[in-house]
Amino acid sequence: MDTYVYKIGNNLYVNLTNRCSNRCTFCVRDEAHPFEGYDLWIKECEPTAQQIIDLIGDPKAYGEIVFCGFGEPTYRLGAMEQICDWVHEHGGKTRLNTNGQGSIINQHDIAPDLVGRLDGINISLNASNARLYEKLCRPIYPEMAFDSVLFFAQACKQNGLNCWFSVVDCIGEEEIAACQRLADEIGIPLRVRETIR
Ligand code: SF4
Repeated sequence: MDTYVYKIGNNLYVNLTNRCSNRCTFCVRDEAHPFEGYDLWIKECEPTAQQIIDLIGDPKAYGEIVFCGFGEPTYRLGAMEQICDWVHEHGGKTRLNTNGQGSIINQHDIAPDLVGRLDGINISLNASNARLYEKLCRPIYPEMAFDSVLFFAQACKQNGLNCWFSVVDCIGEEEIAACQRLADEIGIPLRVRETIR
């Protein structure tokens, strides 16, 4: 049976899809498989919102319900919204880990849709400019991917969403500093996370 939810620490992670608009060189899908002991490749079909809700049970039993699997969760925007609403109705907290391309994936500005639904949004920045982003993340929409990440982050900020950028430490100190300058210009915090190998 496919793994739709998985526990790490005190959080429950939701694996809504394996689709992604990037093919990052550092993606754990290729390297760390199985990931934390879980096989996150979906072999049968993507889960419905109700299947996830049934698997969560009591959202208060976890620190956060985190949308983060072997894919980009905003491909399943409708299901994610439904689950977020249910989690909040039942006293839980939600977070999205995203590549920030949800607005081009869904062909509209999705930030307003997320208001009141997500308690935190981690946006992978990963590079300080489009050329480096393309090299590292190998997006399927190369002409617009990096700009769409910045657009999404700014839209989240304008909509009052709690968001931050993240970069993986494998990009090197100089590039991390350049990402920090970019994040400062936009006015969004930056977190550096360890590359999973
Ligand atoms: S955006 Fe995330 S899931 Fe998609 S390829 Fe990059 S690391 Fe993997």
